[in-house]
Amino acid sequence: MLRQVAEGVLIHESEFIKSNAVVVQGKAGVLLIDAGITGDEMVAIADDLREMGQPVVAGFSTHPHWDHLLWHARFGAAPRYGTARCAADIQAFLSNPSWKDDVAEELPPEVAGEVPLDLLGLIKGLPAETTQIPWDGPQIRIIEHQAHAPGHAALLIEERRVLVAGDMLSDVLIPMLDLNAADPIEDYLAALRLLEGVAGNVDVVIPGHGSVGGADQVRARIEQDRAYVQALRDGNTPDDPRIGPSAKHGWEWVSDVHAGQLQRLARRSEHNGTPG
Ligand SMILES: [Zn+2]
Repeated sequence: MLRQVAEGVLIHESEFIKSNAVVVQGKAGVLLIDAGITGDEMVAIADDLREMGQPVVAGFSTHPHWDHLLWHARFGAAPRYGTARCAADIQAFLSNPSWKDDVAEELPPEVAGEVPLDLLGLIKGLPAETTQIPWDGPQIRIIEHQAHAPGHAALLIEERRVLVAGDMLSDVLIPMLDLNAADPIEDYLAALRLLEGVAGNVDVVIPGHGSVGGADQVRARIEQDRAYVQALRDGNTPDDPRIGPSAKHGWEWVSDVHAGQLQRLARRSEHNGTPG
């Protein structure tokens, strides 16, 4: 079921780690951002849109991770976009003939078999200098950065005062760093500074996973993510409500991700001979 979170902006929350698909109404149809997870969910979104008389006229993937790259034939053949770096990353991945097996291995058991992979990642990269999504609807500013994944984009729907944050600013998931990057900590902090720069223009923040937040949540979540990343950088134990036994959703795997990040960062600094 689509739920309105701002004028002309609706979301569908998946049962799979509270993933949010986002619908933005334009003049002649909708933009669909991070289209959904299971086939059934995407069909339900398509049905809702058909009832509303709103065809999908464009798609966008915030970043090159499988749960943000899916699509369903029922959405039709609208152009699907991502940043140039996002598209290059997924195209490289799809050029491996065994990519479906690789994704299948990554799929958690609760959704394995329910995720249609045929249309995964068929996006067009927007030229690097593109600052707006090319479509006939409210202007949507692309805020590209390198935290979490290559070519990650947050989207600012300026006239609706909505920030679609991709996999950042979640109330349930900690910052997950792109540990293949040269400087994942600084990439993340730089991205948070970019988001902070537009925070004054945002009344609604929609994370890729988790609850939609109001105006007060935008800066609070930026601060929370920054505190986490700084604690990782400084080797402190983060005091973060998203991990540990008191975590809201009790998802133990989030604490495991945290432990894994600590370990990999420690190994990197040993390897580089840099302290901390
Ligand atoms: Zn992701």
